[in-house]
Amino acid sequence: MKIDVLTLFPEMFSPVTRDSMIGRAVDRGILDIRLTDIRDFSNNKHNRADDYPFGGGGGMVMMADPVFGAMEHVNARGRRVIYMSPRGRILDEEKVRELSQLEDLVILCGHYEGMDQRVLDYWNAEEISIGDYILTGGELPAMVLIDSVARLIPGVLGNENSALDESIYSGLLEHPQYTQPREYRGMKVPEVLTGGNHKLIHLWKLRESLVLTKERRPDLFRKYIARRNDRDSEGNRIFDKQERTVIDEVAGSENKSSSRGK
Ligand code: SAM
Repeated sequence: MKIDVLTLFPEMFSPVTRDSMIGRAVDRGILDIRLTDIRDFSNNKHNRADDYPFGGGGGMVMMADPVFGAMEHVNARGRRVIYMSPRGRILDEEKVRELSQLEDLVILCGHYEGMDQRVLDYWNAEEISIGDYILTGGELPAMVLIDSVARLIPGVLGNENSALDESIYSGLLEHPQYTQPREYRGMKVPEVLTGGNHKLIHLWKLRESLVLTKERRPDLFRKYIARRNDRDSEGNRIFDKQERTVIDEVAGSENKSSSRGK
């Protein structure tokens, strides 16, 4: 996947694009992230890329001309353009999945009070927000978008299945996780996890996930248990009898009925 990022602060990206999982995906050629400094396209002798807003109001607005220059430089015409913006649709699982199918993306990062509207209109930019709060610039939101999308691209994570096992993507919140040692400061790992019985471990994880989801995200819980009797394309039930029993028990119980430690 090729991603062009247009920003006034390209240096902010290097910890994400050079290191960690994204950095490895870049090294392996799965991701091609190119950073363009919008300021390089300013015709102003002081390299200014912002000016006062017409009609008054506080703050500055990014000028159209340097952004147009940067967009033309990366050949953005005809490509999918995203503008990170608190006015946009909030990034969620559905949007992340959709974007992970693309091979090519241009991400525009705003700063100051935002960007001259003519940029967004001309380049047909889709506005995407990472949540109902205001950040100083679009750089952190762009990194959130790139990270979340990259995790779903085959080959980026070591284990391809692991992305879909995680909270939200699986339809449930994730069960508690434990690692060595088996006992820490008197707190023991639930016995079932060290017993080696894979079916019991699976049912324990399912129960814990259901309990947590019911308590914290009743919206997801309702959606998940509505699939209790569903069948796959070959007519087989998606949940076996024991799984359905766990679903029924958690659905019929009060919240906070975690079996942890039992
Ligand atoms: N004046 C703008 C408004 O009220 O909608 C906010 C501008 S904000 C200070 C500067 C830039 O940060 C925005 O242009 C956008 O690119 C980015 N930004 C801020 N909060 C964001 C969010 N929640 N999601 C995505 N981008 C955000």
